[in-house]
Amino acid sequence: MDLQQNLQTIRSRISQACARTGRDPSSITLVAVTKAVSDRTVQQLIELGVGTFGENRAIPGQRRSGLFPQVKWHLIGPLQSNKVKYCRDFDLIHSLERLKIATLLNQKAAEWDKQINVLIQVNISGEDAKHGLGIGDVLDFARILIRECPNLNLRGLMGMAPYVEPEKTRSCFQALARLHEQLRARVKSDADVLSMGMSNDFEVAVEEGATMVRIGSALFMEEE
Ligand SMILES: *Cc1c(COP(=O)(O)O)cnc(C)c1O
Repeated sequence: MDLQQNLQTIRSRISQACARTGRDPSSITLVAVTKAVSDRTVQQLIELGVGTFGENRAIPGQRRSGLFPQVKWHLIGPLQSNKVKYCRDFDLIHSLERLKIATLLNQKAAEWDKQINVLIQVNISGEDAKHGLGIGDVLDFARILIRECPNLNLRGLMGMAPYVEPEKTRSCFQALARLHEQLRARVKSDADVLSMGMSNDFEVAVEEGATMVRIGSALFMEEE
């Protein structure tokens, strides 16, 4: 695989999606999702200038944040209560969806004497099996989180569209972007992160306002 070429292609597709909607490409953070690749590939991406990485499990993520402390590490997958103790060094946790976990994470953060940045994961796909809070529950959850978890810093929202033809994801991303506006208007004006878009659908997500895209397979695919 030609990592440099893949990275360049993704960056230029992000730029084109920005150009179509009058956005500034520098307002979008590419999170390289490295759950399926080796440490060596991570090292190569760092050398190519990638500065933000996502892992979907806490223990491997913690290990990599120790190996590569010069870049930022995000937890993007579901967090279980027995894994909260591994979360000290994540710069952002995208997948908060339960108050019980939030409370445990808040306790840990207080012990560590730090603030942990979090996003609320929202179920925008309408599929029951998918993680995340229902859209109608998010603002109340955010208010409770802010009140009960002073060591968590709510930075915004994350969502995953269903795996369908990219254009069909647009209404999901629009719904999440609208909710993000409401969060900022009514609950927390500095919650500036909207994490949406993956390999299949990141251009649509950027057109609809994503500030972070989480990309794995498109980075690591082989040429045809
Ligand atoms: C694996 C994963 C991604 C990246 O998916 P690709 O389709 O490989 O780009 C993004 N977000 C989450 C939560 C993931 O688990």
